Amino acid sequence: MLYLVATPIGNLGDISLRALEILRAVDYIASEDTRKTGRLLKHFEIDKPQVAFHEHNEQKTVPKIMRLLETGHSVAVVSNAGTPGISDPGFTLVREARRRDLPYTMIPGPSAVVMAVVLSGLPTHAFTFRGFAPRKSGKRQRFMAVDQDSPHTLVFYESPYRLKAFLADALVVFGDREAAVANELTKLYEGVVDGRISELIAHFEENEPRGEYVVVISGTDS
Ligand code: SAM
Repeated sequence: MLYLVATPIGNLGDISLRALEILRAVDYIASEDTRKTGRLLKHFEIDKPQVAFHEHNEQKTVPKIMRLLETGHSVAVVSNAGTPGISDPGFTLVREARRRDLPYTMIPGPSAVVMAVVLSGLPTHAFTFRGFAPRKSGKRQRFMAVDQDSPHTLVFYESPYRLKAFLADALVVFGDREAAVANELTKLYEGVVDGRISELIAHFEENEPRGEYVVVISGTDS
């Protein structure tokens, strides 16, 4: 059996009882970063063989994991943080497990996209998750423009190093809409800043971005 197991996005207390139960029970854990997962496993006193599974070895590792499953082993897939498959490796495994008719399921848990959209104060009944935008401004603006006329709340992941440039491009593409920036979710310095995009730009001119960020931008309807 294949399990996609969500892990905490900061606060280790957010691991679920089922996640722990499955991590203790499986034969192998396929992890994006074996060292990081090693620390998580150590914290919960779990000793388990790991298989490295990340975007750079995905093609090679999917068949390896399929062989393990086909020979009767159980495998849990975890990413560095949050839900596997959400801006993290995972979907190719699910696609292949479905193709081969192998049983699989997910142990749900934290994901930054859901927490940020809920905390943003922007409408949650329909939202479009875009993940990471391209790093270069021209490409990023074209990437954003796809949803320029969307009525849905828009959600993006962004690194602290590119947040200011991201917001500058967002102002060009979307105009001065309402938005919210959530960071360090579930951690000590968790915070949400909201306002018009221009106000957020001014905020981050004063307060240098640090930590992990999710940007939530209102759709044309809100
Ligand atoms: N699989 C993860 C999930 O389910 O949210 C996302 C992994 S992605 C490689 C990492 C990005 O998610 C970060 O750059 C940031 O945009 C967002 N993120 C993850 N943890 C976060 C946190 N604690 N606070 C804010 N954003 C976070």
